[in-house]
Amino acid sequence: MTATTHLPTATILGYPRLGRRRELKRAIESYWKGQSDEAALQQTARELRASTRAHLVELGLPAAGGAVPESFSFYDQVLDATLALGAVPQRFADIAGSDLVTYFALARGDRDHQPLEMTKWFDTNYHYSVPEIDERTPFAANPAQLVAQLAEAAEQGIASRPVIVGPVTYLLLAKASDEAAAGFQPIDRLDEVVAVYGELLSALAGAGAQWVQLDEPALVSDSLPVPREQTLELVARAYTALGATADRPRILLTAPYGDASSALARLGALPVEAVQADLVRGSLPEAELASGELAAAFADTQLLAGVVDGRNIWKTDLRAAFGALERLQRAGIATAATTSNSLQHVPHDVRDETRLDAELASWLAFADQKVEQVVILARGLAEGAAAIESELAAVDAILAARAQTAGVRVDDVRTRVDAVAGADRERADEEERRAAQQALDIPELATTTIGSFPQTAEIRRARAAFGRGELGQEEYDEFLRAEIARVIRLQEEIGLDVLVHGEAERNDMVQYFAELLDGFAVTEHGWVQSYGTRATRPSILWGDVSRPAPMTVAWSAYAQSLTDRPVKGMLTGPVTILAWSFVRDDQPLADTASQVALALRDEIDDLVDAGIRIVQVDEPALRELLPLDADRQAAYLDWSVGAFRLATSGAAPGVQIHTHLCYSEFGEIIDAVDGLDADVTSIEAARSRMDVVEPLGAHGYSRGIGPGVYDIHSPRVPSVEEQQELIRIAAARIPGEQLWVNPDCGLKTRGYEETVASLTNLVHAARAVRAGA
Ligand code: GLN
Ligand code: ZN
Repeated sequence: MTATTHLPTATILGYPRLGRRRELKRAIESYWKGQSDEAALQQTARELRASTRAHLVELGLPAAGGAVPESFSFYDQVLDATLALGAVPQRFADIAGSDLVTYFALARGDRDHQPLEMTKWFDTNYHYSVPEIDERTPFAANPAQLVAQLAEAAEQGIASRPVIVGPVTYLLLAKASDEAAAGFQPIDRLDEVVAVYGELLSALAGAGAQWVQLDEPALVSDSLPVPREQTLELVARAYTALGATADRPRILLTAPYGDASSALARLGALPVEAVQADLVRGSLPEAELASGELAAAFADTQLLAGVVDGRNIWKTDLRAAFGALERLQRAGIATAATTSNSLQHVPHDVRDETRLDAELASWLAFADQKVEQVVILARGLAEGAAAIESELAAVDAILAARAQTAGVRVDDVRTRVDAVAGADRERADEEERRAAQQALDIPELATTTIGSFPQTAEIRRARAAFGRGELGQEEYDEFLRAEIARVIRLQEEIGLDVLVHGEAERNDMVQYFAELLDGFAVTEHGWVQSYGTRATRPSILWGDVSRPAPMTVAWSAYAQSLTDRPVKGMLTGPVTILAWSFVRDDQPLADTASQVALALRDEIDDLVDAGIRIVQVDEPALRELLPLDADRQAAYLDWSVGAFRLATSGAAPGVQIHTHLCYSEFGEIIDAVDGLDADVTSIEAARSRMDVVEPLGAHGYSRGIGPGVYDIHSPRVPSVEEQQELIRIAAARIPGEQLWVNPDCGLKTRGYEETVASLTNLVHAARAVRAGA
């Protein structure tokens, strides 16, 4: 192929989708509430897409040649693929209305339909809608949305590049529907699905698309239903077929989110025109590069080097990135610069931040700065290193300054981490702890909650007023104390055994701590989509972490002063704090985790000194950070479990340490969950009807366990009988003295009415089972 058929040397795999000021979120939510109609929503979406394309061109992506990706989504890219494939599950077949009505029904459910399940997208904090496939799921190409967007772009004078989740990844992320026969796997239908992708490609070619991007992150994961070598075979089979499609755009096949180096030569030899590799998490296959094998495989294929990190917010070391590009170029491979993955995981623009320290801001690259970095690298590829030397030198200077800045390295923090010994991660043995904790006088089948109580409109209003300075510190504290007192009284009335203070003071379980710890910064507009219209604002962990003052002690101690029953202190664990922040990239995560753990360790000390005898350390993100690459999992589990233990092992034997994990799919990490060595572990279990208890029992787990008996994800009030039944199922699988009774997760998203009713039933259910019912 001639050079003119290549993609331009600068492109990105995708861009944030909710809009710079979350315009799309507001438009969609207003449509859901019936405050605007579909036409109005479509209009907002069109405007957002148009301004995004224009903006990317302004930032330097070429308008011609397919450099601008069409990464818009009303909710989720996997759901987009479901609609494009016509793969609407049978149970939604009765929904009448436009495609968009069906789309949102799948995403969110309605009165008569449970929504598609949601689960985490690879090792990110983004959630996708899980396709449900069985032997009879219909497949029929529905290219309308893709074609419409292409036409809009053309009207703007931009030749854009449609983006679709690829067929292998789509099916490997799908689940078999409840109607599927035993043993059926969605991937069994690969050939049929590939045929429909072929039709989509033809339709796109007919509509003038020069390029299409098919994302196959399945290529980098060892956590899928088939082993990785087999994924590669499936990809080879799929793209050999797609490559043979008569009329099609040129195909960019991407392997984001991890290391595809061992597959790269094979991918280059497929009948596609470009392959992207993530060179941030992944690497180049050095042996094949040296032997010329890689160049041979890429003789007719362009290699897009994902050298700019799409997962994090630090400026890329341009000199190192350009080094990789030059090596590929020197090897005779047609190369372009791009991002490691879609920029959907980073905020829009550092320039929008008015309150960040100027020096810190200079180290950062949000989506727009990353596009600019890609454009610089592309210019280097086209014009030679000398053409971009001043830009490379500017980043060198920034990185050098960053390393020297006060707070990035704090001697006291480092000395303390260096002094950590094995014994600092060990508590007294289980027997001794159990004996010492008898003093807590906790009954069998003890009832408790996971921490948060409903965050009412009143709480949010008070927090906002405090943030704006309209409510003084004293008044705000008074408000929170009244809230705590109310929640304590309520729990006593309901009859719970172990109480919580309710977390009314927390905006978010990570940001609350980030605001109180040294080494963190928070943003104003740094929103990142977590699912659908939901976004979070991760904090930036930029320096050595330490705790200038106690963070939760006053609230917990106040709560404990109001009752004779034990109140649980409530902390977010070190792994979750890292997982839900943008973490510094200049030292191993394990080192950063130790610093956070030591700060939490001090907090536990202070809680205990203030009279708290039970402390819960939440680690809902433990599974999320598990590397996709099996080779890297043991090291991760080692440091993450070690960080939790470092945080909690200062506690005397009589202090009861709890932990909470949100999900129930932890088969792969069951050793790690046990290894946390918490006295009590609460987990989500209601929807799976206690499925998780059996494996833990079989594993020999010998400490307390609280499998959720109340599904807090819906406003439904579970009856006494229902919860009683779940407790009985659990009690049949694990000795009663190990069993706790609690909801699946925190109650912050629930309303009070349903919460009180559900918890009252929970307490009655526990009492009934205790009484032998
Ligand atoms: N303690 C937190 C709460 O109750 C735990 C939340 C979580 O697991 N995500 O809200
Ligand atoms: Zn949870």
